[in-house]
Amino acid sequence: MAEKKCSSCGIGLHGEGNTYFKCPECGGEGIGRCAQCRDQGVKYECKKCGFVGP
Ligand SMILES: [Zn+2]
Ligand SMILES: [Zn+2]
Repeated sequence: MAEKKCSSCGIGLHGEGNTYFKCPECGGEGIGRCAQCRDQGVKYECKKCGFVGP
């Protein structure tokens, strides 16, 4: 089982406040966001299609 990581800062997604979802553009690569990056509105990037979202 692969560890989920924040796509923005690369931190492991443990505990609460984290989210993990599929890319809204290509629906493929999973994108993780930690609570801190969500809070700060850090952008994420899909490694598969290059989609960048808030
Ligand atoms: Zn993060
Ligand atoms: Zn994508």
